[in-house]
Amino acid sequence: MELYYDLHTHSCLSPCADDDMTVYNIANMAMLCGLDIVALTDHNSAKNCPAFFAACREAGLTPVAGVELCTREEVHVLCLFPGLGEAAAFDGFLYPLLPDIENRADIFGRQLILGEDDAVRAEEKKLLISACDIGIEELPAVVAEYGGIAIPAHIDRPANGLIANLGFIPDEYVFTCYEIKNPDALPNLVRNNPCLARKRILFDSDAHTLTDIPERRHSLSLPERSAAALIAALRSAPPAAWA
Ligand SMILES: [Zn+2]
Ligand SMILES: [Zn+2]
Repeated sequence: MELYYDLHTHSCLSPCADDDMTVYNIANMAMLCGLDIVALTDHNSAKNCPAFFAACREAGLTPVAGVELCTREEVHVLCLFPGLGEAAAFDGFLYPLLPDIENRADIFGRQLILGEDDAVRAEEKKLLISACDIGIEELPAVVAEYGGIAIPAHIDRPANGLIANLGFIPDEYVFTCYEIKNPDALPNLVRNNPCLARKRILFDSDAHTLTDIPERRHSLSLPERSAAALIAALRSAPPAAWA
């Protein structure tokens, strides 16, 4: 079946996202936009995923639990998991890798942890936008241990992307899938990085405000409507080469 997706969104747990990016607001906006499958990928934390799953269930959406991890090289990588349990376990692994720096809400923004009723349950005290003490080369295997997939995020952006920070796409890495923010950037990216022609490419919003959530435009063909089917598809080769 053909499913419309957005696999990169930030809730109010990310300090840089709007406080009205509550899980119910995200789910309801995604539903209004006609999306089918939506991932929550806050910076270095999966702590709003349980509430997000409850909101998506009510909105009739298929939720995916994830994080946007910032590596030692300050490269942003989406880590998507088959379920809440795997994401929570990975969150437990990740949290000690974040430096012990307290968030300054007045500078960076609040980091709100929500309950299943969309109400603020707690505030995350540790600053979530720091780099974690894990390298880009070791991350894919670690994420796979938790049943997930690691996807370099917004590789067309001039900051915090694989190309921006490393200067190239290292072909020996085991990434099978890459994310691009601007679809118009794809032809140039493939020309300059031919290995991308053999990879899956995702187009996500990286939504930090409700109006960033896109209309249904980008879809994936999956055998069933589940996060596990999504991850299996993203691990496999693309249906056709781009170039
Ligand atoms: Zn990012
Ligand atoms: Zn992001």
